[in-house]
Amino acid sequence: MHEQIRKSDTMQVVGQLAAGIAHEIRNPMTALKGFIQLLEGSVKEDYSLYFDIIKSELQRIESIITEFLVLAKPQAVKFEKKDVKQIVKDTMELLNAQAMLENVQFVPSFEADLPSIYCESNQLKQVFINIIKNAIEVMKNGGVITIQIKCVKQRYVVVSIKDEGEGISEDRVKKLGEPFYTTKEKGTGLGLMVSYKIIEEHKGSIQVESKLGKGTTFHVALPIPVLQE
Ligand code: ADP
Ligand code: MG
Repeated sequence: MHEQIRKSDTMQVVGQLAAGIAHEIRNPMTALKGFIQLLEGSVKEDYSLYFDIIKSELQRIESIITEFLVLAKPQAVKFEKKDVKQIVKDTMELLNAQAMLENVQFVPSFEADLPSIYCESNQLKQVFINIIKNAIEVMKNGGVITIQIKCVKQRYVVVSIKDEGEGISEDRVKKLGEPFYTTKEKGTGLGLMVSYKIIEEHKGSIQVESKLGKGTTFHVALPIPVLQE
């Protein structure tokens, strides 16, 4: 519980900062990219190694800003009654090409007659994208990602995303959702932080179950509105 509270405070601060700064960084970034391109085309010596580093670092800044911007759009948030199954299906479609490239297969298992929930569908889609992307990325030899949706105790719709990756040790599970926590060379460590924040705004929760060498399951629980018209 203590851990949860501390994390959520951090996320709020990060969210507010993101809203103010992300847009301001984008404009100078565009100028930088333009002039780097110009320079690269006009210098005579071979500085391609330096240019590659500059470009890849600029790309990295851009990835971070893009993930921050998901947090920086509170005005656009519109909660509506939606079918989670459809949102999950849309996400799977979106990631299908990437999955196929990595020899990963999605196996859906959806309960019939799931109730709709109140949500901001674009943000929710972002959460499923982040979690499923991580699942694809962790399955370096391909395999199956099982995506299950069920209703629990008539109170929650739970989306469970199960991979066959390397798993996460117990002490590392605690770090999930911390800003900038990543074990990937090209990672931002922001995907889960953003996801936790969005699910928190939906009054839901994310639970992680993992076994080293076997795989990981992310359970995303979303509350069913008490009054179903
Ligand atoms: P990024 O993907 O940029 O590293 P994330 O916030 O999405 O940032 O994830 C943070 C870290 O959590 C990852 O670097 C990885 O170590 C760990 N992680 C997330 N999902 C999984 C998973 N399905 N299996 C194993 N590790 C995971
Ligand atoms: Mg990620």
